[in-house]
Amino acid sequence: MDIPSLRRRASDAVELMDDPDCDPDKLADTYANFRFVNAVVSGWRGMYRRDIRPALSRSRESTLLDVGCGGGDVARSLARWAAADGLRLIITAVDPDARAYAYAMSLPPLPGLTFRRALSSDLVDEGRRFDFVVSNHVLHHLTGEQLGRLLADSERLAARRVLHADIERSRFAYLGFGLGTWPLFRRSFIRDDGLTSIRRSFTAPELREVAPPGWQVTREHPSRLVLRFEAPPASAPAASASGSVSVPVESDRRSGLAQPERELPSGNGEAVRDVIVVGGGPVGILLAGLLAVRGVDVEVLEQRVEPSLRSRAIGIHPPSLRALEQLGVAEEMIAQSVRIRGGVVRSDGRTLGRLAFSETTDRMQSVISLPQSETEAVLRARFAELAPGRLRSGVTVTEVHDHGDRVAVETGGEGVLAGEALQARYVVAADGARSLVRDLLGIRCTARTGGETYLMSDYPDTGEYPGEAVLFFERGGVVESFPLPGGRRRWVAMTPALLTEATSDDLAALIRARTGTRLPPTTSAASSFSVQQRLATRLVAGRVVLIGDAAHQISPIGGQGMNLGWLDALQLAPALARALREPDAAASVLAGYDRRRRRSARMAARQAGFNMAMGSPVEGLRLRARNGLVRVLAVPPTSAVLARAFTMRWL
Ligand SMILES: Cc1cc2nc3c(=O)[nH]c(=O)nc-3n(C[C@H](O)[C@H](O)[C@H](O)COP(=O)(O)OP(=O)(O)OC[C@H]3O[C@@H](n4cnc5c(N)ncnc54)[C@H](O)[C@@H]3O)c2cc1C
Repeated sequence: MDIPSLRRRASDAVELMDDPDCDPDKLADTYANFRFVNAVVSGWRGMYRRDIRPALSRSRESTLLDVGCGGGDVARSLARWAAADGLRLIITAVDPDARAYAYAMSLPPLPGLTFRRALSSDLVDEGRRFDFVVSNHVLHHLTGEQLGRLLADSERLAARRVLHADIERSRFAYLGFGLGTWPLFRRSFIRDDGLTSIRRSFTAPELREVAPPGWQVTREHPSRLVLRFEAPPASAPAASASGSVSVPVESDRRSGLAQPERELPSGNGEAVRDVIVVGGGPVGILLAGLLAVRGVDVEVLEQRVEPSLRSRAIGIHPPSLRALEQLGVAEEMIAQSVRIRGGVVRSDGRTLGRLAFSETTDRMQSVISLPQSETEAVLRARFAELAPGRLRSGVTVTEVHDHGDRVAVETGGEGVLAGEALQARYVVAADGARSLVRDLLGIRCTARTGGETYLMSDYPDTGEYPGEAVLFFERGGVVESFPLPGGRRRWVAMTPALLTEATSDDLAALIRARTGTRLPPTTSAASSFSVQQRLATRLVAGRVVLIGDAAHQISPIGGQGMNLGWLDALQLAPALARALREPDAAASVLAGYDRRRRRSARMAARQAGFNMAMGSPVEGLRLRARNGLVRVLAVPPTSAVLARAFTMRWL
């Protein structure tokens, strides 16, 4: 076996598995084989026993972040060892590579272990903290600058200890690994990439030289280096009540550090929750899930006993996928959905222009289509995992009283807790467009445009526009068509009045008359709706916060209401977590939420207003002018701007 020169780090050497086009079967085998290789060479069992286990407890949860987790074998081993010892360790394992994430998610779930597609910097941005931050075989992949960033992130994320383990470059390691893996692992990249990793990796003196002050390099196990950092004692420990990742809210609570929000009396013998969410629609549940993953004690009160099957939102945009990813459900939703690759604008039998929503193969950058009832089912199932029993169905909120230091909520209905007076530090009104909570608070809404009426139904897909949304700008008014999963398409047509009695056959006849398209028969019922656009004059009143349709109602034309609400949730979850943790900062944090989300809602409303105006019935000169405008908007560079708008990237 030839041994190359190992005097310098071969930082240019490329590992086969880093090639985005590498053989997927070999890659899957590589992830699978890591488990065996790491068990033999990486020494994590010893580090778990010595550096992690002594800090774990049977009664208190501790948290651990595995950065660059690849296929997740180290995270899985740690989860198994802690479980076998009866210790409560909640692990979040992150990797930005979609292939690694897909592999990790394809394995049977383990209690307390969550995988996410993310960078360490994403978690810093979210304000996360973990008792332990670890990585395995990540350092040798990094340039000097990237290493500096990872270590800075690690310092911010770790409340107790950081352990970045990697191989040490040496002839012994190269020879030992080369001989030890021959002739094994032929169907994977393990051997080739292992040898390349050794060439890329650091020696102990090299790592000491680049490590910032406060970091230590230790030699463990044969040919192993560990770059360690001990967090200053004041910030330990971080823990989570939710069975998922943690933030300092929990850390403070459990450690006995600042707990100004904990000492209040509870009502009716019930605990005072951190947050009560009124309304278990898509926005309320997503927010509750995002709070639960932060360790916030949250309860959702929903007046319905059965979920709504009403046909509503279908489009899910890339920024929303980010929110869904935080909850660990993005991949599941993508798998159930169809991707909308772009849009076609047609008029009078001709194509005026085409927009590509995303040219990339990154699924997180796609627009996908999934019926709202299916989306809500996925969200509910995930929330039930994160906070079992905390979605209370059949409970209608009837009164809300802000007492300054907490909010009391009165309820009616049939469900468990109905009729009880409940209390929480904060109440979030996610109770939809007709929000009772908003009315009780006396918050007014400014009505923007509105009154346009539409008819919609779902039909079998004729296959004419695969993966594309189609807008027909016709004289009699706009017709829109979107792909749905299961070989179906949704068709929506503007109507002169609210046609509550119209059937799917009536809609098909209208669409044929306007566009010439013949639709196959359908079993779906048609539904009519009229468009309202409203924005609450404020989103925060004391300890009550509005979100989703309760805060803003946007025209379904352009498909933004649910997505906009999810983006509210993405901002409100960390804001509430911080408000609970740092009561002195609460007012300014929530004011920031109010300001930013009202600005986004105004932009979304303007865009929806523009979409509706473009789709209104027109004749003659105005028709020609509008079609001319569409042609201009559908070519670069304006098409890129339009595509950004349609995919909600500026909200
Ligand atoms: C035809 C149509 C098509 C649409 N298409 C799209 C689209 O493609 N993309 C998109 O992003 N959006 C779309 N939307 C908008 C989207 O459906 C809404 O924006 C979304 O449902 C808002 O979610 P929410 O959770 O804020 O409110 P809701 O979905 O209205 O949920 C509110 C929940 O609160 C509960 N509730 C109400 N009052 C109380 C109370 N007092 N106590 C307890 N519970 C209560 C309700 O039962 C309900 O479950 C569409 C809407 C329509 C009508």
